[in-house]
Amino acid sequence: MTQENETPQLLEQVRQKIDQAALQAGRAPGTVDLCAVSKTFPEEAIRPALEAGHRIFGENRVQEAEVKWPKLKTEYTDVQLHLIGPLQTNKVRKAVDLFDVIQTLDRPKLAKVLADEMERVGRSIPCYIQINTGGEPQKAGVSPKEADAFIRMCQVDHGITVAGLMCIPPQNEEPALHFSLLHDLAVRNGLSGLSMGMSADYEIAVQFGATLVRVGSAIFGARTVPHATAAA
Ligand SMILES: *Cc1c(COP(=O)(O)O)cnc(C)c1O
Repeated sequence: MTQENETPQLLEQVRQKIDQAALQAGRAPGTVDLCAVSKTFPEEAIRPALEAGHRIFGENRVQEAEVKWPKLKTEYTDVQLHLIGPLQTNKVRKAVDLFDVIQTLDRPKLAKVLADEMERVGRSIPCYIQINTGGEPQKAGVSPKEADAFIRMCQVDHGITVAGLMCIPPQNEEPALHFSLLHDLAVRNGLSGLSMGMSADYEIAVQFGATLVRVGSAIFGARTVPHATAAA
């Protein structure tokens, strides 16, 4: 290949900015994980990140991940693949087979189907519960006022390992308000994981306690296919 791939340097830059933001917030550097969002990017674009040693990746569609990741996962050990897009119950079997973390648990039916499938195959996958902090009708996620009951149902009724909470703030609002709300919800429910922050706002998310940021375009470049709301 003649064109040089910038992804390793961009990854390093993002890592440094995360650590700086953590330090500024009085947090220890290294306490925030970076999920590199590789949706829409082909295998060749992902490989440089893997070669550079990166291991946590996010995809938002089961079908797309199924094309790219089984092979990459056999070539690179310890990959941790996160599902960050909506999950339909008819894709749960494939999702449980391929993903290592599911960040988008957002409704009772899905909790039940996921729990049953994890039990069936004897594989327990940590899940984040997606919270619709902006109360947007078109967006997935549990409403903040139903969050406590939903979290308890997942843990107690279904025995799901709830790693934490996840949110995608509304596009034209101050993300800090949403990050702060998510943080409070997590604390109130005794959860330590906070998946929040994307390319445009991950440093703010770290300031508000993110333990996992999901960064795509700042690492892989601009996406040509708009994809964000598509169902998994
Ligand atoms: C696409 C996507 C991201 C990454 O977005 P960038 O702006 O490219 O960093 C993060 N989270 C979710 C849920 C996404 O769908």
